[in-house]
Amino acid sequence: MMGLMQDRPLLISSLLTHVEQYHGDSAVVGIPCEGGAVHQSWADTARRARQGAQALARLGVAQGDRVATLAWNTHRHLELYFAVPGIGAVLHTVNPRLFAEQIEYIVNHGGAEVLAFDLPFLDLVDQLAERLPRLRHRIVMTDPEHMPAGRDDLLCYETLLAAETGTLDWPTLDERAASGLCYTSGTTGNPKGVLYSHRSTVLHAFLCCQADGLHLSRADSTLLAVPLFHVNAWGIPYASAMCGAKLVLPGPKLDGKSLFDLATDQGCTFSLGVPTVWIGLLRYLDEAGIDPALLPFQRLLIGGSAAPRALIERFHHAGVHAFQAWGMSETSPLATVATLLPHHRALPLDRQIDVLARQGRAMFGVELRIVDDAGQALPHDGVVTGELMVRGPWVLSGYFGGVGDAVLDADGWFATGDVARIDPEGFVTLTDRSKDVIKSGGEWISSIELENAALGHPAVEAAAVVGVAHERWQERPLMLVMRKPDQNPAAKEIITFLSERVARWWLPDDVVFVDSLPLTATGKLDKKVLRQQYRDYLLSAGTGG
Ligand code: ADP
Repeated sequence: MMGLMQDRPLLISSLLTHVEQYHGDSAVVGIPCEGGAVHQSWADTARRARQGAQALARLGVAQGDRVATLAWNTHRHLELYFAVPGIGAVLHTVNPRLFAEQIEYIVNHGGAEVLAFDLPFLDLVDQLAERLPRLRHRIVMTDPEHMPAGRDDLLCYETLLAAETGTLDWPTLDERAASGLCYTSGTTGNPKGVLYSHRSTVLHAFLCCQADGLHLSRADSTLLAVPLFHVNAWGIPYASAMCGAKLVLPGPKLDGKSLFDLATDQGCTFSLGVPTVWIGLLRYLDEAGIDPALLPFQRLLIGGSAAPRALIERFHHAGVHAFQAWGMSETSPLATVATLLPHHRALPLDRQIDVLARQGRAMFGVELRIVDDAGQALPHDGVVTGELMVRGPWVLSGYFGGVGDAVLDADGWFATGDVARIDPEGFVTLTDRSKDVIKSGGEWISSIELENAALGHPAVEAAAVVGVAHERWQERPLMLVMRKPDQNPAAKEIITFLSERVARWWLPDDVVFVDSLPLTATGKLDKKVLRQQYRDYLLSAGTGG
């Protein structure tokens, strides 16, 4: 017998309609690329999104069409987050930090006919013009005063909106229709597109608003330090509309000073981003002599790559509840969140931080397991590591355009390419990406755990560990360290420090001091580059026997 409840579709437009009606006066603050600050309400955002939708429809954008963006976190980009899927089209956010060739590939593969971009990317767009043959319209996300002179070939975002009434009934769509498209950085092979649906997006937004999820609510003022082009800014724009949270969009400037000033000015209670952003923020505070206790945040989510324990600890000592979550483009992205269980709350702060420094537990809707090389399930005993597999209604079922063919196993599990252990309480500890695992004499060494240990040393600003060729053990760990300003520890001192924290055979064969470490377009350590650069380091140093 079927239930007799209404089958209303879960649509992104319904989030906007809700926020306008119930949280219309809640604020959206944006720093546009042309400078200054824009203060508007969620009601304004909803109206402008409808105008944007009308403008796109007038340009011929129809259901299923892709609209690409090359843009920072601004109020206009946020409006497109609703305008595009609202009319059944697909928002294809493209990371402007990628190489031009990668952008060309991604935009062409996504098939967009309209591209909306921020003014600073004009040169890039011009440079690519001939190589993006499908594009019919290029919209500059600015106002008429800042439009480049003599460019009749470009459309102005604000001029397009001004021509529309903002009166529009959002169409009723199939909730399984595509709403967004995001390409993974493709550390191996070409980038692959993940195609989100209205349903997966709305379900994911519920997760962000759960108390044991990201606890997002109307009480929050969120500083969006994760870009709108990085996996839907981890779902926060849609979740903010669901609960009416104030949203602060920092524009192109993600340096420590800009973030601190904006967060303080806007009373931000919550923020989220990759570890490098937070390391930059703390460095700024140190250099400027500002007490981190002046940070306005109550909660801070660190994700995208392993959050160093020492980083989480510093925020806690400043009164900020920093915690970690794990996910990937293929999981919308949130899958696990580290929250304390009741019995953890009685523990000393140090032990609580141990819990918050793990990748967290599965949220409802996400199923996890770890498997061995043969695909056999492994125990969740907190000891054995295996490849992490995931299943759920906001996990992909296949890549855009059929790239990579069938990506799920016979039981519907998606292999994440991450290596983890899961303890009996369900806490996931990620030990590596499978391609970063160091295989030394048949045993595995976790680069993440070594880096984490090194970051506990007071003179270490950043650390990366990669496996490099070794004559006897095939691979041995090599550690690259960026020292803090005015600090000068010797390699031996770092190794001694590590020897009190990790197994002896894990100790890096050498520590190399560097001025900077390469980062990917999403701000993560680029170990592929380091592996290439240092592949023969131990061999050529003559220590490889
Ligand atoms: P990209 O390759 O472009 O960075 P994603 O943003 O989808 O693509 O990256 C997802 C990957 O980032 C995960 O598979 C995992 O390896 C890593 N990651 C994400 N969150 C964490 C975390 N909290 N700890 C460790 N690694 C993480």
